[in-house]
Amino acid sequence: MNTGTEKKPRFCIAIHGGAGTIRRSEMSPEKKAVVENDLLESIRAGIQILEKSGKAIDACVAAVSVLEDSPHFNAGKGSVFNSDGFIEMDAQVMCGNSLRAGAVTCIRNIKNPIKLARAILEEGRHVLLSGPGAEKEAKRLGLDFESDPYFFTQFRYDQLQNALNKKTIELDHSDTGDGRFGTVGAVALDEFGDLAASTSTGGMTNQKPGRVGDTPLVGCGNYANNKTCAVSCTGIGESFVRAVSAYDVSAMMEYGKMPLEEACNKVIREKLPAVDGEGGLIAADHLGNLSLPFISKGMYRAWCKAGEDIQLKIYRN
Ligand code: ASP
Repeated sequence: MNTGTEKKPRFCIAIHGGAGTIRRSEMSPEKKAVVENDLLESIRAGIQILEKSGKAIDACVAAVSVLEDSPHFNAGKGSVFNSDGFIEMDAQVMCGNSLRAGAVTCIRNIKNPIKLARAILEEGRHVLLSGPGAEKEAKRLGLDFESDPYFFTQFRYDQLQNALNKKTIELDHSDTGDGRFGTVGAVALDEFGDLAASTSTGGMTNQKPGRVGDTPLVGCGNYANNKTCAVSCTGIGESFVRAVSAYDVSAMMEYGKMPLEEACNKVIREKLPAVDGEGGLIAADHLGNLSLPFISKGMYRAWCKAGEDIQLKIYRN
């Protein structure tokens, strides 16, 4: 889908709540209203910052934090269980101006992984911290922790039992039934011409402990570069890692002079299936164009350009 316009907007933002098998038959009006409300709250948190001449990176962190606090998405509070019945979360944020990135992987009990990723970016010494080391850093910074019951939902537990019985590792939206939603992300362009991208996830149901997906790896599930674009991916992480998908969009724009929409479509519709992939991405370029392609049944997504209404969609049409 091309949401590009001729005129460069003062700012733009897009968010996603994951891609996958999202069945219309299982989406009751009540459930739809709840998830749409969360997505709207998330994008409004980002817009509020951009409207007041705030930075793209702040808008991306704010939008993702809202979805991490919701039980309906596979990030923060709503994260899925790994095969040992624990929750391990990944997150990354990148700034297109400085090419600085901050990321965390395999972290437990931190309320907002994206805030820790942001702090690592600001500090600038390291890019990616994992497990206990990352948790130690969060304590040092005084970030909020939550105990296991905060992250527990019966639905996620049932999803794990299902996956264990079937011996599968599942995307949050795989067709195991009443899907709560997926990995979350945001991309934004601010009025200063700076791009940013943020992504946060609990990974995949029944993944092995210690598994690292695409989300915390720079250029795989998340990337931003002011010369080209900002990208946040969702789907089977291993495929996005093998295809280096987020950076590939940027590289095709930088070296191949491809427009955003064409580069995004090539990555999602051609390159991702070639490595057994499934999913989608959201992207913004330095001209304020947005692109939100996916090859799964649906992708929870919303977007907005300055001066225009917020658009929100789940399915193709
Ligand atoms: N990409 C995430 C991962 O593999 C999962 C998702 O997008 O739902 O960790």
